[in-house]
Amino acid sequence: MKLELTFFIGVLLAFFVLIILCIDFLRERSIINVVKKIRRERKTCEVCASVYFFSVTAKYWRCPLCGSMNKEK
Ligand SMILES: [Zn+2]
Repeated sequence: MKLELTFFIGVLLAFFVLIILCIDFLRERSIINVVKKIRRERKTCEVCASVYFFSVTAKYWRCPLCGSMNKEK
């Protein structure tokens, strides 16, 4: 009887951990989705050819390295 109880608690704990892991996994996935929704685009500067990641919605963006304005393609 005592062995069964321990087994039961063990199974319960295993399920508990599994559920927590599932919630964590789902939360992480949703966070990734949210991040993806914020459009981060790969931009290459036309002047110095350096690559940056911006969440640009404007038509123009300024290069952080050389300070030149770049047009959205
Ligand atoms: Zn540049």
